[in-house]
Amino acid sequence: MTSFDTIIIVDWSGGNQTRAKPRKDAIWVGMVTPGRPNAETFYFRNRHLVENWLTETLIAERKRGHRVFAGFDFPFAYPRGFGRVLTGSDDPFAVWNWLTDKVVDEPKHNNRFELGGEMNAMFPGVGPFWFHPRGREIENLPAKGKARIGHGMEEFRTVEKLTKGTFSCWQLGGPGTVGGQVIMGLPVLNRLRRRFANDVSVWPFNKSSRGIHLVEIWPSLISDAVDAQMTDDAIKDEVQVRVLAEAIARQSPDRIAEWLSEGDPEEGWIFGTGHADELASPPVNTLRNDCFALPPGVDWTPVDEALANLRASLGPVVTAETVPTAQALGRVLATDAIALRANPPAANAAVDGYGFAHASLGDPPHALPLVAGRAAAGAPFSWRVPPGYAVRILTGALLPDDVDTVVLEEDVTVEDDKVTFDGSIKPGANRRRAGEDVDAGDIVLKAGRVLRPSDIALLSATGVGTVSAYRRLRVGVLSTGDELADPAPDTPADRTFDANRPMLLSVLERWGYDAVDLGRAPDDRAVLRGMLDESANRVDAILTSGGASAGDEDHMSALLTEADALSVWRIALKPGRPLALGVWQGVPVFGLPGNPVAALVCTLVFARPALSLLAGSDWDSPQGFTVPAAFSKSKKPGRREFLRARINGDGAVEVFASEGSGRISGLSWADGLVELDDGAREITPGDPVRYIPYGNFGL
Ligand code: AMP
Ligand code: MG
Repeated sequence: MTSFDTIIIVDWSGGNQTRAKPRKDAIWVGMVTPGRPNAETFYFRNRHLVENWLTETLIAERKRGHRVFAGFDFPFAYPRGFGRVLTGSDDPFAVWNWLTDKVVDEPKHNNRFELGGEMNAMFPGVGPFWFHPRGREIENLPAKGKARIGHGMEEFRTVEKLTKGTFSCWQLGGPGTVGGQVIMGLPVLNRLRRRFANDVSVWPFNKSSRGIHLVEIWPSLISDAVDAQMTDDAIKDEVQVRVLAEAIARQSPDRIAEWLSEGDPEEGWIFGTGHADELASPPVNTLRNDCFALPPGVDWTPVDEALANLRASLGPVVTAETVPTAQALGRVLATDAIALRANPPAANAAVDGYGFAHASLGDPPHALPLVAGRAAAGAPFSWRVPPGYAVRILTGALLPDDVDTVVLEEDVTVEDDKVTFDGSIKPGANRRRAGEDVDAGDIVLKAGRVLRPSDIALLSATGVGTVSAYRRLRVGVLSTGDELADPAPDTPADRTFDANRPMLLSVLERWGYDAVDLGRAPDDRAVLRGMLDESANRVDAILTSGGASAGDEDHMSALLTEADALSVWRIALKPGRPLALGVWQGVPVFGLPGNPVAALVCTLVFARPALSLLAGSDWDSPQGFTVPAAFSKSKKPGRREFLRARINGDGAVEVFASEGSGRISGLSWADGLVELDDGAREITPGDPVRYIPYGNFGL
């Protein structure tokens, strides 16, 4: 596993005229160090200063035992084959050495253009380097890119072809270009490589994993995240190095190791190419231990207040990744999805019939000669349809030029290559206009959307082949209690079969999360602590059942209290006992009641919207329906009640005979829940009540 303690990002761009506040020869550095997740930024007037600073900083960081990721925003090598012509070798370090010997770099003068000409002379034809510095004529260096010919080099490296907006390293000057930086930057890196010798690896040329990694990076890879942080007086280069350093520091060691295993051993690579969404995804929330704290002095918390509290304290805890649309069912969009093409992309026929230009119609009855051929879906008619003529057209076929109206085939007679029909027809009849459904550039689905089959259709129809989606939330389920056992014959009567764990795992599966079975914990604090410790590394959230109150054997609440991370919510809810909410090593824990009826109700009412927020989606209140009651009930004030319920043959809602919360059969008998508000109620048959089908809880 590759983990780094210190991330240094260097923006080498010198004298770039596109910056907000031009600063000549400015170099910006962003640095994240252990315990300081917000990057510090540094400004250097020239390469000499930054080279000294880098050398000193690397020495200091290594003395502290920190492993350092040092990123630089220029190519570490040229397109394939360049080194062989220049040095006779494919080893990119041969090019580094060649340049280190040749480059003259003084604050007011450098020889990069002359070197460009010198290198060009070693290639056949003209080029590959080019640029015309103002007022200077450089031997062997063409002024224009177009003047180059026959030099045999590709214009871009493989990785640059995969990346929008990169510049060619052959262009040695001009706004935004990188060619001069490569020539001037590689000798600096080479001196660092020599200075730190066995402690440096250059990615991706060295396979070994050493204390300092020199890595090619490119801030534009995460330009959206950078733009989001820009303010009027901010300097873009500074924001870039800060945002990128923080973004890399946020990644897990696994992701960094995986991205460092990519690359091209001759041409180099840009770190994170193809993973920009993941790299740029906003910082995931780390929950504070006290995030579930309720205002002091509250005794029985009303359900709505408890929900509002949850809603205010939670946000996404998962990173985003790019997913093929066809495989994105149930995933949560991390960014808005934009239509890449209009639907329909061009006007087409809505029916099978005959198309013509409406303006060319005379008075009815109409008789239009048919042109030869036809227009069908996928096989357009590519000749003109003269005024007064009609063309055979099938549903979905593009309308030929000038054709704007289609008459339904059932409404016409065809004889002697003529269509005849009576009556009037509106201009544009049976035509689907280009973009009438969706325009290119429209937001078709908002971030936070949980993708349904119909959404997959919409995305596909508008050309969105991949989406940025949050990684699936991983939710663990743990049962607690010495009395629990898995179903087996001859189990003694003092054992209780564990119903909650399989129930909760199934609920999570229905909700589209990765459900992780964390097993059963005995009523033993040390064992439970160990299981929570281990689980916190594996999952994003934990549902436990049992042991949530404040009794002798209620170890879950005791442990969370001990970790200073517990809030026991005594919620005014039936069925439901105290709900223990806590944070264990940054992972939210929902301590549900042990009783299966109460456990399910609390899961549906509280865990469902809370997990939805953690997964990157929106807060979600289940939709209910007002239906007549088929029962009588006298309800006390002061708490919310949920009754196991289902719709009878008359369309009224009946409730399970016993409200006893030990009656698990009632959960299964029911198709949903009746929700009775906090106030008192006298319900008689026919009175309206709110019924929420299980389906609306996502079950
Ligand atoms: P507790 O909240 O631990 O006091 O448990 C309350 C009741 O729920 C007790 O009768 C437990 O035996 C029962 N219970 C606890 N966990 C489960 C479970 N996983 N499956 C079925 N019943 C359980
Ligand atoms: Mg128990």
